[in-house]
Amino acid sequence: MALEDTRRLGCGRSIDQIWAGMDQPPTSHEEDCELCQAAKARMQKIKEATVALRESDLHNPEMTLPAERTNSIMALARAEARRSKRLVLRGTEYGTVEISEQALSSLIRLAAAAIPGIHSRRCRIEVQSDAEMGSTHLTINLRVATASGIDIPATVEGLRQKINKAIPAGVGIDAGTVNITVEDLYDV
Ligand SMILES: [Zn+2]
Repeated sequence: MALEDTRRLGCGRSIDQIWAGMDQPPTSHEEDCELCQAAKARMQKIKEATVALRESDLHNPEMTLPAERTNSIMALARAEARRSKRLVLRGTEYGTVEISEQALSSLIRLAAAAIPGIHSRRCRIEVQSDAEMGSTHLTINLRVATASGIDIPATVEGLRQKINKAIPAGVGIDAGTVNITVEDLYDV
């Protein structure tokens, strides 16, 4: 997983893709994807500013650098879309290790994707840091849809165990509290 890929969200959609679909109704992926929804909402403000700029450019004969302007707007859009809450994983006298909430929820989504019969939806992560103890406690609130006809308690427990392994393996801290809400069923 390329956490540093600035052109893609954690769900794999590219910023350019989302930008291109700004005026379109949400796709079925976007309806379920918090990352895409947040990116779209942030970029909407930039979109409005772009339209205003374009309007004024039409009346400005000296406006001759449309490509340059488009590039700087796209850079701004990408920066906006990837800006998300950061969690401090470790603070030492040599510096800190941080991870974005988006990267952490990608890790959780990947874990969920490995469980048959589960589709992950919204993922919210709260973090309580105790500077004195040097400890971090996560509370992961994940909403999922499950396939109809499966054993929901056993499947969700399997998901919890998967997350409990994936977080320490990926980022070196305990998954903490994992709250999973089954909010919908889907037909298989
Ligand atoms: Zn998405």
